[in-house]
Amino acid sequence: MQTRNLINGEWRDAPSGATFDVTNPATDEVIAKVPDGGAGQAVAAIAAARAALPSWRALPAAERAGPLAKLASLMLAKQDELAKLLTREQGKPLAEARGEISYAASFISWAAEEAKRVYGETVPASRTDQRILVLRQAVGVVAAITPWNFPAAMITRKLGPALAAGCTIIVKPAEQTPLSAFAIGELALEAGIPAGVLNIITGDSAAIGQAIFADPTVRKVSFTGSTAVGQKLMVAAANNVVRLSLELGGHAPFLVFDDADVDAAVIGAIKSKFRNAGQTCVCPNRFFVQDGIYDEFVAKLAAALEPLRIGSGLDEGVSVGPLIDDDAVAKVRDHVDDALSHGATLRLGGKIFSPESGLTERFCQPTILEGVNASMKLNHEETFGPVAPIRRFTHEAEAIELANDSPYGLASYFYTRDNSRVWRVAEALEYGIVGANDGAPSTAQAPFGGVKMSGIGREGGRYVMHEYLNIKYVSIGID
Ligand code: NAP
Repeated sequence: MQTRNLINGEWRDAPSGATFDVTNPATDEVIAKVPDGGAGQAVAAIAAARAALPSWRALPAAERAGPLAKLASLMLAKQDELAKLLTREQGKPLAEARGEISYAASFISWAAEEAKRVYGETVPASRTDQRILVLRQAVGVVAAITPWNFPAAMITRKLGPALAAGCTIIVKPAEQTPLSAFAIGELALEAGIPAGVLNIITGDSAAIGQAIFADPTVRKVSFTGSTAVGQKLMVAAANNVVRLSLELGGHAPFLVFDDADVDAAVIGAIKSKFRNAGQTCVCPNRFFVQDGIYDEFVAKLAAALEPLRIGSGLDEGVSVGPLIDDDAVAKVRDHVDDALSHGATLRLGGKIFSPESGLTERFCQPTILEGVNASMKLNHEETFGPVAPIRRFTHEAEAIELANDSPYGLASYFYTRDNSRVWRVAEALEYGIVGANDGAPSTAQAPFGGVKMSGIGREGGRYVMHEYLNIKYVSIGID
């Protein structure tokens, strides 16, 4: 297990020797001590990325694709080891962690292929003595700042397209989950990605952020995390007019219409809401179910959730792991208590506890709340826990209005068997992602991202390449 920062192809401690602990959220066991670096290491990493840039971006895309494809295949070859490490630092069940590793690898292999298809353009001119050419070129040095809830995939969604486009990168993983980042760094070196092309630094996030935005070498920052931090980074980016991609918080609605396949809707609800113990940006936070199907949906959802095993993600058969830390526990508790004090009723779960001795008190039962209304905190804020607040609705227009009543606009879901309604509702939802009869729409080929306060830019598919490319217009005068 690698536990030091990767700068210019070397594994380095913080110059001060300071470290911080990485712990298993299920047990509080200290898994590793990693460098508590800061601005100095960020400056060194930026210098390494700047030095590596000219030769990396000069390579033909097909040559950059080679080591990237190798990195993706090494990740798949080590899927089990990487998944165990991921579960130990993040807590999610092993089966989900395995899934995250293959999902993470898919972003690298997709980008490696896609970089070969970054086309320029010729545009018809209005003058006979002019030719118009449009080139696409790597933006330069990129910084990626990532959250703890997908410790591998949130990194590769940025690293894959950035490197494939010809950029070099500094990755700043979340404090809670740096070990997956280091493991990816080790495999990148093994895959032949040259020194300085990928740098990974941990430590004081504010100091690292300041160093990144202070250095005019960094031309692009790609951030995934909370809307509050994203807003701060937007202000900081003004300093050097740095390009930003922001993948921020969500507040997804999940609509179930009377004509839905209820069993499919229950499966979709479990996939989208209860994966990673409800700690995903695309988790539904607000369920709206039409009157005619309400009782059946809630009864079937409760029956499907009740037997789910709660425990350490390393134990076979566990479906719900721990929340990431005590702050997360406090937030979930606060949202549930607030809803109950404002008139909601508990249909299922509601308890945060330790499922067996040796485990922390960070495990939350899958929870269903009924009688939810707009005054409750969980109707406005991301809960980030396995809590499904459910409301009734009567008409389609009402459901759409309720669903769109949010400053966030990342993911949304709805279930119906009516093909015309699929079109109407998909077009009306003010969200970057719509799962129509699909509880897990995210995939490397598709554009992932939000509107409104959920962010700017897209990750995945051919769209992501443009996040790491500048357009250059060349006007050629001819005789
Ligand atoms: P967070 O607190 O915003 O942190 C995200 C990253 O930003 C971490 O690496 C953190 O470092 C760093 N950071 C914090 N303050 C910073 C600053 N002043 N300057 C530079 N970096 C700073 O978010 P989180 O709690 O880790 O993640 C949960 C959030 O991410 C949720 O809101 C979720 O919806 C969102 N998310 C969005 C997507 C998406 O694709 N839209 C995907 C996943 C998660 P430290 O950890 O070291 O403080």
